[in-house]
Amino acid sequence: MKKILLIEDEPGLVLTLSDRLRSEGYEVESAGEGGSGIELATSQPFDLILLDLMLPDMSGFDVCRDLRQQKIHTPILMLTARAQVEDKVVGLKLGADDYLTKPFETIELMARIEALLRRSAAAPVTSATGVYEFGDVAVDFPSAEVTRGGEPVDLSAREFQLLSYLIENRGVVLSRDQMLNDVWGYDAMPSTRTVDVHISWLRQKVEANPRHPQFILTVHGLGYKFVG
Ligand code: CA
Repeated sequence: MKKILLIEDEPGLVLTLSDRLRSEGYEVESAGEGGSGIELATSQPFDLILLDLMLPDMSGFDVCRDLRQQKIHTPILMLTARAQVEDKVVGLKLGADDYLTKPFETIELMARIEALLRRSAAAPVTSATGVYEFGDVAVDFPSAEVTRGGEPVDLSAREFQLLSYLIENRGVVLSRDQMLNDVWGYDAMPSTRTVDVHISWLRQKVEANPRHPQFILTVHGLGYKFVG
């Protein structure tokens, strides 16, 4: 049974979400403050953490940073009433895996949870430091940093997500629709062309010869496949 930690101070939401998650077959523990949430998260294993941004004792950002510093790599889905883009960027930089703005539909939350759990289940076996290497590229998952030949590669948050996703699903043919769904999520991206554009940007950054990619391959008529 997958175990979820809910760090949220709004009693009504804690009740509703816990009930719903349990009815979906998850085991749930909750903490009403950041401090007690960190204690729980560092004392027992969880498969996923739902983290509110506005907590009474500290912000969700601080919780997130603290957990990542303590080498807790449990997927974190941030819940927040704020919708600003900069919050999202900060959250993702501090190590949150996904982000959902309140109020949200429970069905959307469930879909995000499933997607995150699926991604982490498929996560590659990396070295003890959480670094995955292909060619002269090194992807440091905990710090979300990528280097090529030792030099930092400047990836956008989306490019990093896409690259992580490709690595996690290496060897698997991924359709554009599937990639849109899993990487861009449920924000109703208009076109699968978006995927092609981002793949092309990513190739410019990690492939020695982007026109003849060695790692991010096109599978004609089907989609893309990462080998490495
Ligand atoms: Ca709150």
